[in-house]
Amino acid sequence: MGEFSWRPWIVVMVAILLANVLFALFAQQNIQTAEISYSRFRAELAADNIKQVRIKGPIITGEFRARTKVSEQVQGKAVVRDVAGFGTVIPAISDPTLMPDLSSHKVEVTALSTESSAMVNALIYVAPWLIIIGIWWFGTRALRNQGPGGMLGGFSRSGARTYTTQEKVEVTFDDVAGLENSKLELKEIVDYLRNPKQFERIGGKVPKGVLLVGPPGTGKTLMARAVAGEAGVTFFSISASQFIEMFVGVGASRVRDLFTNAKKAAPSIIFIDELDAVGRSRGAGFGGGHDEREQTLNQLLSEMDGFDQHQEVIVIAATNRPDVLDPALLRPGRFDRHVVIERPDWRDREKILLVNVAKIALAEGIDLGVVARGTPGMTGADLENLVNEAAILASREGADTVGMEHLEKAKDKILMGGERKMFISPEEKRVTAYHEAGHTLAARLLPGTDPIHKVTIIPRGMALGVTQQLPEDDRYHYPLSYLEKRLVVAMGGRVAERLVFGEVSTGAQNDLKQVTDLAEKMVCQWGMSDKVGPMTFSRGEEQPFLGMKLAAEKTFSEAMAWRIDQEIAAFVRRAEQRAEGLLSANRSKLDRLAAALQEEETLDGARVDEIIGG
Ligand code: ADP
Ligand code: ZN
Repeated sequence: MGEFSWRPWIVVMVAILLANVLFALFAQQNIQTAEISYSRFRAELAADNIKQVRIKGPIITGEFRARTKVSEQVQGKAVVRDVAGFGTVIPAISDPTLMPDLSSHKVEVTALSTESSAMVNALIYVAPWLIIIGIWWFGTRALRNQGPGGMLGGFSRSGARTYTTQEKVEVTFDDVAGLENSKLELKEIVDYLRNPKQFERIGGKVPKGVLLVGPPGTGKTLMARAVAGEAGVTFFSISASQFIEMFVGVGASRVRDLFTNAKKAAPSIIFIDELDAVGRSRGAGFGGGHDEREQTLNQLLSEMDGFDQHQEVIVIAATNRPDVLDPALLRPGRFDRHVVIERPDWRDREKILLVNVAKIALAEGIDLGVVARGTPGMTGADLENLVNEAAILASREGADTVGMEHLEKAKDKILMGGERKMFISPEEKRVTAYHEAGHTLAARLLPGTDPIHKVTIIPRGMALGVTQQLPEDDRYHYPLSYLEKRLVVAMGGRVAERLVFGEVSTGAQNDLKQVTDLAEKMVCQWGMSDKVGPMTFSRGEEQPFLGMKLAAEKTFSEAMAWRIDQEIAAFVRRAEQRAEGLLSANRSKLDRLAAALQEEETLDGARVDEIIGG
């Protein structure tokens, strides 16, 4: 509840206090009174100086017959005052002579009920309700997305202030390494924002919404900022998940505020990260639906439609799930322009590394191309992390510069997980060594598989050992024969264990999962099974959006489902048999590799060649 405003409550409290004070003042009847001791009161009574008393519980207030001097302690000093009235407290010990004494001195006695007055009672009963109704009222105000105004003016607006950022960015296209095609596509947006009038005169179609599509960490945010920097316009940004994560009901008003501010600052760019968080197909939600998200989405759509033809505001959104977006978002006039931000290939990875090492002290003569080649699939964010990790390693070792060995270690840590300190019995070590030797030998013996980069039996992450293969270049197409060999390599570990120890162990679980997933994709996604045929099925799809998967019907028959299962199993079995044949025919090499692994724990590609070749 970070946005809760205390101001209205302070006002309410002050009002209640004031009412109390006034009430008390009236009750006092404005007589000059002083607090006196009970004995003083008895003394005055004996002196026949008490005209009347009011008794309320243990409290007596009253008037003197003549004005009387009373000394009081005011801020530690004795002050003598001349007063007409008094107040005192009856001691808890009963004083049976009080009433007779009062009547004998002809004092007028009034007894008051100890019950508090009706007004105070009413206040006590009503106050909690007032507070509850107040909260409810403020809550519904927010729900109705009423704009700023009234006591809670800052309520919904302050959210936008906290969660959106508005800035003049310094980043330019030069800060984005690689991605030349995407930059070229975005150049048009930059031209428009720089000089809208001229752009329109030439007759360019004014863009409104651009969707950047790409995996996380590939630099979508960076690219959007660079567009703003190149054009020299104000950059507003918000993450769509933040629209809906805060108070219920403020998502839509936040969208409106964002657009209002951006229009005021035009020309400007609004960047919405993770658009899929609000932009998922309507109706795809499950578990009670998500009205909040839909309201936010609707507001976003109507804001985009409400753009004046000549309003120089461009909305750039980023997502890695364009497939789940609501089609309404992609209609002309909305996010109709798509720019794909790809995972960098090794040449771009080298450029990204270059940008990042500029911030650290790098040792002389390091070929970043080698690192770039050794990091297939890594994104800009991963590479940034790699360089950072290497710098940390270097400083931990007390080195002056970051060397190749640090980069290499950082890479291993990211690709294979951090080394784990754990006790491993010699027997376990032997099993792991044979397991990894099985993977390694299978990969080494099959032509056309990715070269072995490193094999280790030092526990890393969740694995007891790791065999790491690295492709020579990035691949975009995988032929069937290559994938089949990959299955063989993955089965190599388990097969080697069975060959040597006569039984399998739990160590192959991860391998089996990989094998099954890959075989499933080969059959269901890539049509690589003749028996199933060249079709794709909803099985084995990558990271299905939960709601979509539940909603997706099974579009194939039971007979086909059975055939798919058979084919996946057949792929896996064939791979297992091939691995078995391969390893048993090369048992001596397997033994040598396993022995070397137990001895040296980590072998690089060259060392593996040496052992197998020798
Ligand atoms: P996304 O928005 O796609 O998830 P970001 O733009 O947040 O990714 O990028 C994550 C980090 O990676 C940023 O710190 C950025 O500097 C870095 N990065 C990503 N791609 C590149 C690139 N092409 N050039 C330079 N840095 C990059
Ligand atoms: Zn394995």
